[in-house]
Amino acid sequence: MQLTTPVQYIKGVGPRKAEILKKVKIETLQDVLYYFPRSYLDWRTFREVGALREGDSATVMGVISSAAVRRSASRRKDFVAQLSDDTGIIECIWFNQPFLERVLRAGLRVVVSGDVARYRKLQIRNPDFELLSSEEQELIHTGRIVPRYPLTAELSHKFMRMVSKRTLDACIERLEEVLPEDLIRTRRLLPLQEAIKQMHFPDSWDLQTQARDRLAYEELFYLQVMLALRRRALVRVESGLTFETDNPLVRSFLGGLPFSLTGAQQRAIGEIFADMASKSPMNRLIEGEVGSGKTVVALAACLAAIGTGYQAAFMAPTEILAEQHLRTIRDLLAPYPVEAALLLGRIKGDERKTALSGISSGAVDLVVGTHALIQEGVEFGKLGFIVVDEQHRFGVMQRSALREKGKRPDVLVMTATPIPRTLAMTAYGDLDITIIDELPAGRQKVITRATDERNREKVYEFLADKLRERKQAFVVYPLVEESEKLDLKAATERAEILSKHRLLKSFKIGLLHGRMKGEDKDRVMREFRKGEIDVLVTTTVIEVGVDVPSACILIVEHPERYGLSQLHQLRGRVGRGPHKSYFILIKGPEVTSDAGRRIKVLENTTDGRKIAEADLKFRGPGEFFGTRQHGLPELRVADIVGDVGLLSQAREDAFRLVEDDPTISEDSNRPVRETLSRRYRERFRLATVG
Ligand code: ADP
Ligand code: MG
Repeated sequence: MQLTTPVQYIKGVGPRKAEILKKVKIETLQDVLYYFPRSYLDWRTFREVGALREGDSATVMGVISSAAVRRSASRRKDFVAQLSDDTGIIECIWFNQPFLERVLRAGLRVVVSGDVARYRKLQIRNPDFELLSSEEQELIHTGRIVPRYPLTAELSHKFMRMVSKRTLDACIERLEEVLPEDLIRTRRLLPLQEAIKQMHFPDSWDLQTQARDRLAYEELFYLQVMLALRRRALVRVESGLTFETDNPLVRSFLGGLPFSLTGAQQRAIGEIFADMASKSPMNRLIEGEVGSGKTVVALAACLAAIGTGYQAAFMAPTEILAEQHLRTIRDLLAPYPVEAALLLGRIKGDERKTALSGISSGAVDLVVGTHALIQEGVEFGKLGFIVVDEQHRFGVMQRSALREKGKRPDVLVMTATPIPRTLAMTAYGDLDITIIDELPAGRQKVITRATDERNREKVYEFLADKLRERKQAFVVYPLVEESEKLDLKAATERAEILSKHRLLKSFKIGLLHGRMKGEDKDRVMREFRKGEIDVLVTTTVIEVGVDVPSACILIVEHPERYGLSQLHQLRGRVGRGPHKSYFILIKGPEVTSDAGRRIKVLENTTDGRKIAEADLKFRGPGEFFGTRQHGLPELRVADIVGDVGLLSQAREDAFRLVEDDPTISEDSNRPVRETLSRRYRERFRLATVG
């Protein structure tokens, strides 16, 4: 049979079972081969009946001496068989499975595997079993390391084992090796056919591990080959723009800053300028701790483009942040002839028309906006440079949609969420990375404390003390989509309560949430910035980027509802000025142990990298950046968090291969070429197009 043969042609499957298998995405024999066990049971140790003890997990071979359905006290129909060998006789019981009567008849030779328990006398409960027709029969359900597959209600382990055994026998020989010979040799990998066999029916735990590692390596290797090709395609294009980075605009901007740049900021600007001055299009990620001053770095880069005669676009994930960026930019650029405009979804009518025409005529040099920037109807006259702020909020698709608005513009993405090493080698494997690992001088560590309802009054006393010293505070409510209304209500009520509280009623309490009109949001933020509002009760709209240096207390309600990186981002809203800052978490009544652990991590470290790695561990890569966004193909075997070692090997091998043989045409790389064009056709195309 062929690998592409529909599974229904396997003996014992047929059209009805094939429908069921379709639900777990098995349609062809190839699909069966790649439907791997979730776990295994070790049923290798054969025992004699006479030697069985309560508590044993054992495999026994014997003959059924008698068998019958027996009604339990609760009228359940159990199937009971007596199994004997030369040393004794033992009862086997299958609860609630009267139909076994038709299968396990007296006189048959069987092997059973299960746990030995005692109910008046010894019995083996719900064992796996296998009928023996001949001495040489290969066991698949008992007497070996037995696979357990991911199941649905309509699939049984027994059925899946049968299907995969028969499929292996029918077509494993047709499966062609997909890795180059020399890699298999140097990395000491199992050949593909052997790996697939050992994955389903391992002959030992060691072979199972080898099989798993070989298949994980293979997945990671192909992922890396794609990234290597993608990067080559980007680098090879020589038609990228070159910018005059040492232009007067840049010089006077850098010379006129109200502070001196940190060493890390200077290094970052140096790396970016080198990219911008070269012909190949830049595709760079800046990773810098919250508050490390990424905005000025990006702005300097924008000015390098603007000073060369191009337009720059600055994309932020929220309207509040876009507005804040525009404000910062207008302040810093006031002395210079740079025309900046704002483009948000809510800007309509004439205001929008004016902005759009300025953008397309080239009168506007710098456009700040949200994803409104990538919508249709937005046309740039001469877009040369793009900044994407807080990258983890945007998908790869949005990045490329914006890129398409210009002619091979340079792209700079920025994130405060450190990319764990494994993701830096995968989802971000096609980007160059610049790290800003230094905070501006004078920043203080934010003091983090978790507490709960019982100490709420104490927290308010502390808050009132600080407010009297003219400090400002945020109180943040989580906003989860399912309960958005309730959360808004909770935030609104809390603002009410605080403004009436005996200790706080002399202070001005403001409210800010995502459902408010844009102008109202602007007004509240403005008042808060000016110090006219003392405490801002808000939802997570302020999570990223918001920069109000005089705010030095942040109280989080229901911290258990947030992910770690999100809390870390929130913490970054304070500690931005010279004042001692506090991050206070008021836990709700129902904190799961997971949430408890997350909060502990946060109390114990302010190192964004450690936090991101912990977060990745807690949540897995899918959720870390949002499933749709991380852009990784599905990995069946490899574990992106656990397989760091294999991942670096695969990356090294793949990048070397693509470097040595960029068109993958050498004879020794034939397996790679054929696999790419077969298995990865769609993505291969995407990758080479860049
Ligand atoms: P983030 O990297 O989190 O986006 P921002 O760019 O918003 O940080 O910068 C945080 C604050 O630090 C801003 O108020 C900014 O003006 C200030 N800042 C940036 N660079 C420096 C520096 N070298 N020295 C002092 N303050 C700085
Ligand atoms: Mg920022």
